[in-house]
Amino acid sequence: MRIGVRKVGKSRGSYYSALKRITRVANSAISLRRICNAIAKSTAKAMQANGCRILSLNSQKEYLITVGTHGLSDLYLKKGPLAAHKSLPDILEGKAVFIADAATDERVQHPQMALAQGISSILGVPVLGKGHAIGEIRIYTREPRQFSEADKSFLFSVANICAVVFERAELHQLLEQDYKPSEKRRKSPQVPPVRTTLRPTTFAHPSEEDFAKLLDFYCIEWLYEPRSFPLRWKGGRIAEMFTPDFYLPELDLYIELTTLKQNLLTEKNRKRRRLKELYPEVNIKLLNKNDFLKLLAKYGYGPLGTAKVEGIDRVLYSHAQIQRRVRTLARRISRDYAGQRLMLVGVLKGVVCFMADLMQQLSLPVTLDFMAISYYGGEDQVVKITRDVDSSITGQHVMMVEDIVDTGMTLNYILGHLSAHNPASLRVCTLLDKRARRLIDVPLDYVGFEIPDEFVVGYGLDYKGEYRNLPFIGILHPELIKGNAPR
Ligand code: 5GP
Repeated sequence: MRIGVRKVGKSRGSYYSALKRITRVANSAISLRRICNAIAKSTAKAMQANGCRILSLNSQKEYLITVGTHGLSDLYLKKGPLAAHKSLPDILEGKAVFIADAATDERVQHPQMALAQGISSILGVPVLGKGHAIGEIRIYTREPRQFSEADKSFLFSVANICAVVFERAELHQLLEQDYKPSEKRRKSPQVPPVRTTLRPTTFAHPSEEDFAKLLDFYCIEWLYEPRSFPLRWKGGRIAEMFTPDFYLPELDLYIELTTLKQNLLTEKNRKRRRLKELYPEVNIKLLNKNDFLKLLAKYGYGPLGTAKVEGIDRVLYSHAQIQRRVRTLARRISRDYAGQRLMLVGVLKGVVCFMADLMQQLSLPVTLDFMAISYYGGEDQVVKITRDVDSSITGQHVMMVEDIVDTGMTLNYILGHLSAHNPASLRVCTLLDKRARRLIDVPLDYVGFEIPDEFVVGYGLDYKGEYRNLPFIGILHPELIKGNAPR
């Protein structure tokens, strides 16, 4: 039962001493997690609160990941990843959020867990880096509480200190990456930013770290042990729980590695079955030792591995990232052409994957046609159309769909050819734009990704006829490219 709302105030002096302590710890040489835990503890103590949690937003601003806590149970912390947009949209906009009653407030994502933890009021303020939300700090109280202006201003000051801590840790990570020889290529300013999510993760087992590296290689977002599922109760208390090792938010998939002894596999299988009974909506996969080693070996790692992914230097865009971008492009095109019929024209063969995915996402009546052209270095002395569109484009709204625009010479030639047939309109949608190499200024109306000056393969793009079937776009080892870039 709740009794009256308490106003707890701290004097400016004691907040001042707390800030002194917090800045000292922020500037210490201990690990990020220990710094954040110490800040959470001092903050909770200074504000006479029962708990404090410091969260970092992932690089896509989709999830909040706990980087430091004080006074909250493991079960509460592992209640599942917090989707940022659902959790606290105000935080993303840089505003403070006050929740008077966590049990009834709709913004609380796991109210029953808050109730079990005995949380009544929550105050959250954004951690802002260069004016944008990069995280959040939250204060939890057991008794209903109104926070004073002094409380809020103190928490904002702590959030500012957290921002410096985050950015310093991020810089540290970047520097480390820059100084690893294999990562030097990431210095190129045009390469998409390195993943900057703070991950102060200590893994329980080295194989988990290997698995995390593999996920990173494929640009697959992951969270380590973000959620515990109660499996058995005894007298109203939880008697057994299951905490899967990884959660992959983009795939909504939990993964449990069973790289330990085979007899543990039986136990994990039992837990997984129980989890499926109790939480049928949860998607979980067990990866056993042999499968895991084979998986690592496929990419050249681990005891069974012999070589690296042949030819691929690194993944530029994962399948999930491509799919997301294609959906966004399709939404824009569908909106721009609403009420009209559109003719999609692609140049074979690199465009096949992009064309197939894009057209399925368009909510318009579309027709489809393909062209093929000779390329430099082939049999023909000059560029020529080796296959023209089957149907007439005169009076049609035509969209040229391209896999990649590099110098712009191919597209310039094709646009010239198509516009001579007087379409009602002619626009261009390209998945990749290698703008740095542009020689002819061709107009691009829809662009998926602007990419660095590197030779890419996968998702339809080839090198000497190979790699088209890779589900991601990767950068080919520069040594492999000897001169030309065939279609
Ligand atoms: P353009 O230089 O005329 O804009 O592009 C010509 C063609 O070169 C593209 O359509 C594409 O087939 C090929 N190309 C350009 N850059 C790349 C690349 O990074 N990877 C692959 N696989 N093909 C490329």
